[in-house]
Amino acid sequence: MTATVIDGREIARDVRSRAAAAAERFRLDHGRVPGLATVLVGDDQASAVYIANKRRSAAAAGIADFHEHLDADASEAEVAAVLDTLAADDRVSGILLQLPLPGHLDQARLIDRIPPAKDVDGLTTLSQGLLAGGRPGLRPCTPSGVIELLDAAGVPLAGARAVVVGRSVLVGRPMAQLLLQRDATVTVAHSRTADLAGVTAQADILIAAAGVQGIITGRHVRAGAAVIDVGIHRTGSGLAGDVDFDDVVGTAGWITPVPGGVGPLTIAMLLTNTVAAATAAVAGSAAHTGVAR
Ligand code: NAP
Repeated sequence: MTATVIDGREIARDVRSRAAAAAERFRLDHGRVPGLATVLVGDDQASAVYIANKRRSAAAAGIADFHEHLDADASEAEVAAVLDTLAADDRVSGILLQLPLPGHLDQARLIDRIPPAKDVDGLTTLSQGLLAGGRPGLRPCTPSGVIELLDAAGVPLAGARAVVVGRSVLVGRPMAQLLLQRDATVTVAHSRTADLAGVTAQADILIAAAGVQGIITGRHVRAGAAVIDVGIHRTGSGLAGDVDFDDVVGTAGWITPVPGGVGPLTIAMLLTNTVAAATAAVAGSAAHTGVAR
């Protein structure tokens, strides 16, 4: 058996064009466009590239671009003041604080400065709680992109055994919650899991988000499983993931490549969230009560 390779670029294109159509409908209905504010602190090169891609994609979807770049030694009060100004600006539908922040800043405290209605990264404590409670809200972009990929590929979720490798606030935990919300039976594995291969080999759906290159090999995968690789590693020969693609492609039923799998969906879902936040804001309902996804 050779797995069906899920084309994340094509699926992301489709998600982006739906977000652009929704942004255009918003413009026609309200005489202004949704706005995305990106905040970058410092000069980390990878972060600068991510932010540039997000801003370019937002502009291409008809979303207004607001960008703030602070020096690497900006104080927490300075970053907080920028976030507060954006929070009060009606033209700004969504705020994205690029992570990681320089070490002297309290990341969790600054994220919580973002109003949940503008939390297009879905990372505030309130957004996390709404997701855990199964209530409507803005969801983190990478895990919601994974759900989009699974749906587009036609992988059944309800009743499926799903294993998520990784329990970070950014990926693993919200991924598990989203799968649970879709009625999968979910197991979360992490660095202290005993017999990882024994656990993952039970999965109909295996999400690799450990941040360890090539950790998932053929022996970790059940025949016919959907294997989604969230990992991103820069190597001498380009990008690689957490899944040993060549070793797994003969066993899995579906597989995502790196690059060209989950990565493109992350930005596409950010655009979707921004338009959803704008729409919920004009509907008079805060995004955390009005956005059902
Ligand atoms: P992270 O914060 O480092 O979390 C990694 C998780 O994996 C932790 O929960 C850790 O367990 C677990 N883990 C580490 N080693 C393991 C092992 N040997 N066996 C089982 N579990 C193990 O990373 P992250 O932010 O979630 O990101 C994960 C990966 O996804 C990274 O490669 C990152 O670059 C990538 N990523 C991609 C996108 C995208 O757009 N495609 C977006 C975000 C992240 P403990 O909790 O026990 O330490």
